[in-house]
Amino acid sequence: MMGQHTRSESLFYYFRLEDQVPENHLLRLVDKHIDFGFVRKQLKESYSETGRPSIDPEFLLRILLIGYLYGVGGERKLVEELRMHLAWRWFTGLGFDQEVPHHSTFSKNRHGRFQESKVFEQLFEEVVAQCLSVGLVRGDQLSVDGTFVEANASKESRIPREQLAEAAQVNRTVREYLAELEIQNPVEEPTHNQDKVSTTDPDSTYATKGGTPARMGYYNNYLIDNHSCIVVGVQATGARLSEESRAAEDMIARFAKWQGRKPQSIAADASYGNGEFLQWLMDREIKPHMPTRDAVGRTRSPFYGPESFTYLPDSNSYICPSGQQLNYGGRNERNRTFGYIGTRKKCGPCEQRSQCTTGPFRYLAIHMNETARQRARDLRTTPEFGQAQRQRKKVEALFAELKSHNHIGLHRLRLRKLKFVREQFFLAATAQNIKRLVRFLSRPTMSPLPQSVPTLETRYLTFRARMRTPVRSPACTEDRDESPHLAPLLRSHRTCNSRTWQYGLDIRDGSRSPSISLPRI
Ligand code: SF4
Repeated sequence: MMGQHTRSESLFYYFRLEDQVPENHLLRLVDKHIDFGFVRKQLKESYSETGRPSIDPEFLLRILLIGYLYGVGGERKLVEELRMHLAWRWFTGLGFDQEVPHHSTFSKNRHGRFQESKVFEQLFEEVVAQCLSVGLVRGDQLSVDGTFVEANASKESRIPREQLAEAAQVNRTVREYLAELEIQNPVEEPTHNQDKVSTTDPDSTYATKGGTPARMGYYNNYLIDNHSCIVVGVQATGARLSEESRAAEDMIARFAKWQGRKPQSIAADASYGNGEFLQWLMDREIKPHMPTRDAVGRTRSPFYGPESFTYLPDSNSYICPSGQQLNYGGRNERNRTFGYIGTRKKCGPCEQRSQCTTGPFRYLAIHMNETARQRARDLRTTPEFGQAQRQRKKVEALFAELKSHNHIGLHRLRLRKLKFVREQFFLAATAQNIKRLVRFLSRPTMSPLPQSVPTLETRYLTFRARMRTPVRSPACTEDRDESPHLAPLLRSHRTCNSRTWQYGLDIRDGSRSPSISLPRI
């Protein structure tokens, strides 16, 4: 008989939140492994000793973190969801008889205590420090990259910079922006240096990356550990390529300070392969695994490149392929090059002139950081370079996770202004790191195989003895038996069943090679 479920509501329930959250739930693991106790210590000075108790800052931080762990955009939506979600209530310690905080509480704390105490940065650093202490992060091989994240502002909100003062009379954001600029009295350039400024988010930059149409946005720069895919450095910058290298230097220096030693190598794409950054890495004896940014004229030029000339340090000159000396002719600050010049007398009668220059004499431009650039070019031929470039793709995967609706969901920023954008990037990276850290800490411990279980090699040798036929490695050309345990033993996916795997010497060429079924380990 078909049953019918009747909707009924009891007046009282005997219910424990603790029982409703599974042991392997993400939030339970986060609660078990991550200590948020530092938040109260960090913010202690920001609260008065007297008066009505405030909302617990750790409680607020836990709610914010849930938003990033589950990709919930906006604090209004977050508190609505929190009201309904059992596991979230359990993680934040919010009982059914307690009221969910108003969404404006987050903004108030963000503008005040959270900003001043840099609590989000502190949380990020605490998690990275824990990753280092448990051995998840090795820290010797790192990768760096930046991604464009769209600002919470439209490109139509831009007005000419000269009209900002006028707009400030009616627009509070612009008024605050100008007031902040006045207070900061910046020695450096503002984050953007644009003719037009957005009145919605004046710190955002009108830019593009990766061939998409130009939009308002920021760059999120990540420095990651290649081995563990943990983000060990985050920096928000204006959406300018020139800021990427500067951000990379800051992040590497800060991370080296934390762990007390420098990384051995840094992998990046060609946008980081400029002379200044390569020189910075060379000065710190860090290997640059990145393509150099050479001028198109150099890479495609049919003429002799700088590598065809030999430098003479004593006379600060170069010897050309036909043995003539090119003397120093000054520096070009704009291109950051030193010039070495031939003469009509030397180059005029030269037989190799057609391979060297189209002019009457050769002008050789050498980049000021040519030694560092050449070092990076030399590293391109090493196997470590290819490996580092493959590992670098992990940053792209992290950026995809950052923007994916199913993960962090930060394809468009929720808050405006650089200081709040910074907060979002720190929280997003922290959420990404926490997921990996708790997975690492809660992995099952590997127990050694019991003595009674034979190793794969022993089982293979037993199989050989039973077969009583000589088995040759596919790589063996001589008509004699190879050492059996050196031959590759491959597993066939076609012939496996629920209890055994089929193994053979070469399973790709059909079933001619002897094979064995072994129980799954
Ligand atoms: S053109 Fe001048 S610089 Fe070039 S190879 Fe001849 S002599 Fe040397």
